[in-house]
Amino acid sequence: MVSTPLDRSTTWPYVDGEPGEFSYARFSSPTVAEAERALGELDGGEALLFASGAAAAASTILALLSPGKTVALAEGAYYGTGALLRELARWGVRHVEFDQTGTPPAEADLVWLEAPSNPFLTMPDFAAAAAHAAPVVCDATAATPLHVRPLEHGCDFALHSATKFLAGHDDALVGAVVCRSSDDAARLREFRSRTGPVAAPDVAWLLLRGLATLEVRVERQTESATLIAERLRSHSAVETVRYPGFGGLLSFDVAGAEAARRVESSTRVIANMTSLGGVTSRIEARLRWEGERVPPGLLRLSVGLEDAEALWADLEQALGRA
Ligand code: PLP
Repeated sequence: MVSTPLDRSTTWPYVDGEPGEFSYARFSSPTVAEAERALGELDGGEALLFASGAAAAASTILALLSPGKTVALAEGAYYGTGALLRELARWGVRHVEFDQTGTPPAEADLVWLEAPSNPFLTMPDFAAAAAHAAPVVCDATAATPLHVRPLEHGCDFALHSATKFLAGHDDALVGAVVCRSSDDAARLREFRSRTGPVAAPDVAWLLLRGLATLEVRVERQTESATLIAERLRSHSAVETVRYPGFGGLLSFDVAGAEAARRVESSTRVIANMTSLGGVTSRIEARLRWEGERVPPGLLRLSVGLEDAEALWADLEQALGRA
C-alpha cells in the first residue's frame, strides 16, 4: 500500500482475551502510532502526538512538574507558551524568563528553549542548557527536524506545533513531543492516556502526508526566505530584519504600528493572517497578539511556496505604503 490506511476506530477486539497493541483510541491508535513512528525517526527519539502544540506543551509541563517547581522560559519565545505558564501559575507552577543565548537560571526545574524563537528568531545556547541539571525542552516548531534536532544537542524533549511546517497545509491542528528517553515517553504517554489530549487519526494521517513533502517544502521556503531577508535588509522602509539563516519564518520592523498596519493590509499575494509554516505565505503585525513585548512595527512573515520574485514584488509594493 502506498498511502497509510486511516483507521478511525476508537476500540479494537481483544487478542486471546487480552488488550492487544491497540485497544482504545485514547491510549493509542494505528494511524497516530504510524505518524509518531515517522516523526520519531526524523527527530531521533520517541514521538507522541497531541491535539495541538499547546496541548503538547501543557501536557509536558504537567506531567514533569508539580506545585512549587519552576520553568525557565526563553524570553521572546512563542507568546502562547508564556500565556500557558501564566495559566498554570494557579496550580503552583512558577516561571521565570531568561535570555536563551546564555545560561539558564540555577533555580530552574525545567528549561524551555525555542529554536528559533517566534517571532524574535534567536537561537538558544544548547550547550549551556544541556549543562543544567534540569530536563530541557526545545520547541523547534519554526526550525523543523530538517534544520534543528534538539535531542542531538543534548535536549531531553523536542516539541513541535506540527500544525505549522510539519503538517504544512493549514488544515491540521496537531502537536508533538519527541522524547530522548523511553522512561520519559512512557510517563508522557501515561499522562496523555489519563488526561485525554491525544491527536485524532484523521489529523495524524494529514501529518503523515505533510511529512512526505517536508524536505522539499522547507528547502524551497528557506531559499525564498533567504532571498527576501537579504532584500529587506537593504530596503529603506525596514529597520531591523530577523532571520536565522534557515527555515521559512522571519520578522522585520517598519516605523511603527500604523506603518505595519498599512503594509500587512496592502499585500496581495501574501495573505494577511496568522500562523506559519503553510504552503501559502502570510504576514501580520504581531502587536495585535503580543502587545508591548514586541516592537509596534514588527511584522512576521511566513514564506510559502509561491514564486520568490512574485513574493518580493508584492512586499516591495506594500512597503511603498509604509
Ligand atoms: N510553539 C510555537 C513556536 C508556535 O508558534 C505555536 C503556535 O503558533 C505553538 C507552539 C502552539 O501550537 P498550536 O497552535 O498547534 O497549539
